[in-house]
Amino acid sequence: MTVSRQPASGLVSAPETRPVVARFAPSPTGLLHLGHAHSALFTARHAAAAGGRFLLRLEDIDAGRCRPEFEAAILEDLAWLGLTWETPVWRQSARLEAYKAALDRLDAMGLLYPCFCTRKDILAEIAASPSAPHGPDGPLYPGICRAMDPGDRAARVAAGVPHALRLDMAAALARLSGPLVWHDAAAGPQTAAPTLFGDVVLARKDIPTSYHLAVTVDDAAQGITLVTRGLDLFHATHVHRLLQALLDLPTPAYHHHGLLTDDSGRRLAKRDNARALRTLREAGVTPAEARAMAGFPDP
Ligand code: GLU
Repeated sequence: MTVSRQPASGLVSAPETRPVVARFAPSPTGLLHLGHAHSALFTARHAAAAGGRFLLRLEDIDAGRCRPEFEAAILEDLAWLGLTWETPVWRQSARLEAYKAALDRLDAMGLLYPCFCTRKDILAEIAASPSAPHGPDGPLYPGICRAMDPGDRAARVAAGVPHALRLDMAAALARLSGPLVWHDAAAGPQTAAPTLFGDVVLARKDIPTSYHLAVTVDDAAQGITLVTRGLDLFHATHVHRLLQALLDLPTPAYHHHGLLTDDSGRRLAKRDNARALRTLREAGVTPAEARAMAGFPDP
């Protein structure tokens, strides 16, 4: 399998062939269920079919929600499922300096601004303008802090007022020399539409990074050439592609897969313990049966 890589400008250059490196990147905020098993097996099978590498990355930046016992359960349940992965396993909580370096770079380009808003401030502003645009994650940030007086902004930062860091989307887009493209193995060629998300948060008030920033920086740092994940994260790739362009990072190939649903058609969730791998195992389900239930019966 080959992976084509676009330069930061997004204009297509001669395809570069890199061996497949794929990753499964769960967050240790609960027990893995059959949907995670589907995603992990999907990734491992694609890597194996291409003679490539399979990595596991623990996305544990949210200290308030992640638990060591869930991390231990992830390792145990994936091993029970029959998967093996390279070690050491990367943990995002150990990578904060790399995220800081990426934020500093974006800041030096004038693309970040501190946002002091509370959720309440944002909701009030949105309620006052009923035509406020919506993105995949809900209403877009209405730009309150983007327009803040620079002196006021500097004073608040100096006083240690808690703030998030947002990407100034208009300024970021103005730096691009052309459309950004990426390729999804199932959906085909895509043109990135990061404006869908407005001024996204790249560092949270409580965490000095965000999902979008950490995943983009780590996929590049780990040399990931094939990003596999559920369709629920398809739109996020528009933002990741923009961050790759701004930070001069390579663009992997993508393959977003369908999501497993329960009998009533609802997506499996971490709270749905009935389909947790652990519950199945305790009920006497074998690893081969679990693989089949997750959509990957043994050949
Ligand atoms: N950590 C994310 C999750 O558990 C997945 C990240 C990704 O694959 O990009 O949903």
